[in-house]
Amino acid sequence: MAKGDPSRVGFLFGRLLDLVYPPSCGCCGVRLRDGRGLCDECGAGLPRLAAPFCQRCGEPFEGEIGGVFDCPNCGKLRFAFEFARPALKWDEETRQLIHRLKYDREIHLAEELGRLAAEALRDPRFADALTGAWPLVPVPLHRSRLLHRHFNQSAEIARVVGRVSGLPVVSALRRIRRTDTQTRLSRGERLRNLAGAFAVSRTGKTWMTRVGGVILVDDVLTTGSTVESCAAALKAAGFKRIQVLTVMRG
Ligand SMILES: [Zn+2]
Ligand SMILES: [Zn+2]
Repeated sequence: MAKGDPSRVGFLFGRLLDLVYPPSCGCCGVRLRDGRGLCDECGAGLPRLAAPFCQRCGEPFEGEIGGVFDCPNCGKLRFAFEFARPALKWDEETRQLIHRLKYDREIHLAEELGRLAAEALRDPRFADALTGAWPLVPVPLHRSRLLHRHFNQSAEIARVVGRVSGLPVVSALRRIRRTDTQTRLSRGERLRNLAGAFAVSRTGKTWMTRVGGVILVDDVLTTGSTVESCAAALKAAGFKRIQVLTVMRG
């Protein structure tokens, strides 16, 4: 993230507010220091995604699964990304933390959500990305939404993942078209809504020939249509391998 980046200014302003009103744990309310947003106990209590789960979209399954299973989300779909790996299962407490980061601008929560997302890099499927130092690419917001929100939650989460993992964070994508809110749309409708919404940035193009792949970073994976549109844009521009990391499975 560049110094003059408006999202950076929003982030710094949020940190300034944290100094004036020291944050308390996002779950239990205990007072915290050092820009933390969750106490250790509450952070440890959020439900991690654990096997068995879909190896493409991270949808968890109940009980023991032997052999091949059909994921209701993926079915026989093809994706431009290899797999999406959420760190956490869907959970009301986590959902609220993400909501408060995005809509209540509780910037300190990005620190916690980023640390949680980074835990998922232990998934052995990220081995090539870690050894090859693939860049983390945040899902971009459209400029108009960035102006309204002052920061991009995915970029803030990626920044923390980058710090924890040592991977570079590269704004390789731009959102070139504003899209309507997607919450009530089906996957097919979302994909149509998002067609042509993303493009590889000038910075992204300079990285393309240097890296074996990228890790897309987003806050929540719901139908996967947003990351799919991003991955399709990266692929079309020449990026070969795309993996996806999110905080939570929506
Ligand atoms: Zn707590
Ligand atoms: Zn799936």
